[in-house]
Amino acid sequence: MNLISAASLTPSSIYCVGKNYQLHAEEMLQWESQNEAIKKTAEKPEEPIIFLKPSSSLSFDGTTSIPLFQGKPISQNMHYEAELVVLIGRDADNVFAHDTLSFVAGYGVGLDMTLRDVQMSAKEKGEPWLKCKGFRNSSLVSDFVPAEHILNSDKLAFELSLNGTIVQKGTAEKMLFDIASLISYLSYIYGLRAGDLLFTGTPEGVGQVKNGDRLHAELSLEESKGKTLLTELDAVIEPEQKSIIHLKRS
Ligand code: MG
Repeated sequence: MNLISAASLTPSSIYCVGKNYQLHAEEMLQWESQNEAIKKTAEKPEEPIIFLKPSSSLSFDGTTSIPLFQGKPISQNMHYEAELVVLIGRDADNVFAHDTLSFVAGYGVGLDMTLRDVQMSAKEKGEPWLKCKGFRNSSLVSDFVPAEHILNSDKLAFELSLNGTIVQKGTAEKMLFDIASLISYLSYIYGLRAGDLLFTGTPEGVGQVKNGDRLHAELSLEESKGKTLLTELDAVIEPEQKSIIHLKRS
């Protein structure tokens, strides 16, 4: 099977879904409950919770790190979030949910790296999530399986291991808003463009990473005869390097 290379991606938008798995919504609620300023609910929202990452957040070398500002790291707590990622194949505007799958070019697995302490502070103050979600190299994706190979996207399953131990498992079936309804929703409100990426939300089990940690994510198809591995992603957490500027003198 020829995969669509992650290196070829040029998304104009990277859409992400918040709290799209019930058990993850509940684990977030546990942390948020310690903070009175954050509204407490783990119920399914009426509409998907959508946020954007800039296209500059894509990491093409399999590394991610906490950025420095004025010489200091902007966070003390970076989390992994493994997610099923959809690559949009053609422009989609005002598309009914039952028509959406023909707009998918492929399926992959990705990491929505999150600065959890910065996110909690943003929630408390009612500020945007851009800094905690959209920092440089915060979006990592595998190569993508062409959509024509996937007859039933509900059977897509993914798992993430941290330094060799499995920490997250998810299946498309368990999403609160499924892939078709997410694409339809986005097509009505924003309009999807060919090449856009959609991170569909993380299941329970998110956690902190430290420098040197290795993450390995796999996307599989669950069939009656067993699981078939489709594509995988490797990532390593690195300390942010202070920029070294080489001056050329003539
Ligand atoms: Mg996420």
